[in-house]
Amino acid sequence: MKKEKNERKKRRLTTAFGIPVADDQNSQTAGPRGPVLMQDVHLLEKLTHFDRERIPERVVHAKGAGAYGYFEVTADVTRYTKTKFLSEVGKRTEVFLRFSTVGGERGSADAARDPRGFAIKFYTEEGNYDLAGNNTPVFFIRDPLKFPDFIHTQKRNPATNLPDPDMFWDFLSLTPESIHQVTILFSDRGTPATFRHMNGYSSHTFKWYNDTGKYFWVQYHFKTDQGIKNLTREESRRLCGEDPDHATRDLYKAIEQGDYPSWTLEMQILTPEKAKDFPWDILDITKVWPHGEVPPIKVGKLVLNRNPVNYFAEVEQAAFCPGNVVPGIAISPDKMLQARVFSYHDTHIHRLGPNYHLIPVNAPKHAPENSYQRDGLMRVDANAGGGPNYWPNSFGGFGPDPTAGEPPFELSGQAGRHPFTHPNDDFVQAGTLYRKVMSDKDRDHLIGNIVDHLGKAQKRIQLRQTALFYKADKEYGRRVAEGIGLDVNEVKRLADMSQEERAKATEK
Ligand code: NDP
Repeated sequence: MKKEKNERKKRRLTTAFGIPVADDQNSQTAGPRGPVLMQDVHLLEKLTHFDRERIPERVVHAKGAGAYGYFEVTADVTRYTKTKFLSEVGKRTEVFLRFSTVGGERGSADAARDPRGFAIKFYTEEGNYDLAGNNTPVFFIRDPLKFPDFIHTQKRNPATNLPDPDMFWDFLSLTPESIHQVTILFSDRGTPATFRHMNGYSSHTFKWYNDTGKYFWVQYHFKTDQGIKNLTREESRRLCGEDPDHATRDLYKAIEQGDYPSWTLEMQILTPEKAKDFPWDILDITKVWPHGEVPPIKVGKLVLNRNPVNYFAEVEQAAFCPGNVVPGIAISPDKMLQARVFSYHDTHIHRLGPNYHLIPVNAPKHAPENSYQRDGLMRVDANAGGGPNYWPNSFGGFGPDPTAGEPPFELSGQAGRHPFTHPNDDFVQAGTLYRKVMSDKDRDHLIGNIVDHLGKAQKRIQLRQTALFYKADKEYGRRVAEGIGLDVNEVKRLADMSQEERAKATEK
């Protein structure tokens, strides 16, 4: 640090083009009291650059913090995947992890009730592998057509520019598959104490395949070694006001002090044979795989041990895409995942430009980029020099490696818009969570958190949503109804209706 400071002191101030600057305090003017001159190129350069300093913020996951570290393999998984970074016990791979909230803007509070992003970039020798997960094992919706609508309801009312409990609960109560994630979000896990004290999940099902071409369905669980710690509603509210950046600060400080946070990776691995008779649709992101059915196995450890040097360069410009999978890993037909494969790349091109893969935090570190993509805005490397820019070519250019391909995967069916039709309903897992997993204290806090938020929505929306809680568990629904002051019999009546009838009965 001191050496760097001394080095900096020896230099002189220049423009962005290296031209020495004589005066950085007084703009050029026509006389001491006259107007500013257009010829002051140093002033013009400073202002025009400043005017363009902000790039579009992420439409979701805008507020975040990140750090570098490593992933170390602790168990042999070569019978499940041929991926090189998992090929040996003890093998380490450099990673960058970005945590975030989802709905808030870039300056919003870290303590807000919201899922947390948990996005990891593994810099493997076969290219960068991105796993862009959350701190929840499930999600609100399972069809990407609903995603823009869902996010609109979590943001601001178009007329008032205020967060709107009516929009929030109107959409969720008309989308019953959200009930599982809503139950997690309104438990105290919806306000983790810090980024260090929460788990990370792939949420989606992915495929792993081994070197004989046999594939497995998998889900990733990064379990915090710091232990789960959450905020109560009151603590979260206080922090939102007093220290909106508390989790960003906590992460930076812990790493600075050598208190490196870590997570144990546990995998759920399911054979295609077992998946056929599995009691849950393994491609439905609103459901978990019960641990009793698919016991998780410990596979590795993730440690964060280095802070970024420059937030904008390394965290704001970090870009993850769930489609960046390396040989041995493949995406599944989960509809949400399929859409994210397109949408993440698309949004980064909008936010950072077509050459965002050249930004150091995003560039492959341990594998060369040998592609024929050329040119475009902000192509800041040598643009592959004079080498051929097409394939096939007969000028000694690099070609594809057939061994990197995914084994074929059998599919059948009619093209169309197919709803999920699994016989197991959307309320069972939320009910199990409420009854079997939560403690009395967890349930008290859950009810209190819901009553506090849903209590601000219109009554007809409160009734429709409370009917969903009732369908998950009668006591759950009854306690929410009583907390808000709703007629429990009215809630019961709505709970007995089909979703269409319920929607009709509670229309404005
Ligand atoms: P288990 O008892 O084997 O696992 C329960 C899981 O719930 C644990 O992973 C635990 O995480 C987690 N958990 C505890 N409290 C909460 C909370 N307030 N919000 C969310 N998760 C919590 O049961 P099953 O596997 O049979 O699943 C039962 C229910 O548990 C599911 O319906 C689901 O709602 C929930 N769950 C299941 C997960 C899975 O992958 N099977 C993952 C997370 C939740 P921890 O170990 O960190 O305490």
